[in-house]
Amino acid sequence: MASIRSKDTRPELLVRSVIHRLGYRFRLHRKDLPGKPDIVFPGRRKIIFVHGCFWHLHNCANGQARQRTNPSYWKRKREGNAARDSRLEAVLKLLGWQVLVVWECTLTDLDLVRKSVRQFLES
Ligand SMILES: [Zn+2]
Repeated sequence: MASIRSKDTRPELLVRSVIHRLGYRFRLHRKDLPGKPDIVFPGRRKIIFVHGCFWHLHNCANGQARQRTNPSYWKRKREGNAARDSRLEAVLKLLGWQVLVVWECTLTDLDLVRKSVRQFLES
């Protein structure tokens, strides 16, 4: 499953280029915010996370896939990721940030990604 992890940053790069082409400015991995969010729009108080479906337990086929080796270990690990994600989102919301999660599996339709990013940033 190492191959999945090594590709983990590609979805984020793709989303970043989509946002960039839409003309929005953002900051990356701000260390002063909880969880070092992927893509931050300080002026709008908005944050976009790009999540790999497998590692963050998305409710899609890839997110619900199971490893053959050591399934209980990986299940715990991925459930830990998902639990941390929702805690983090709650903390960021308390701090006054709005959060959008872009899932890896939605990147097959970039028009839709463009639309939801724009909607999120303009709302
Ligand atoms: Zn997914």
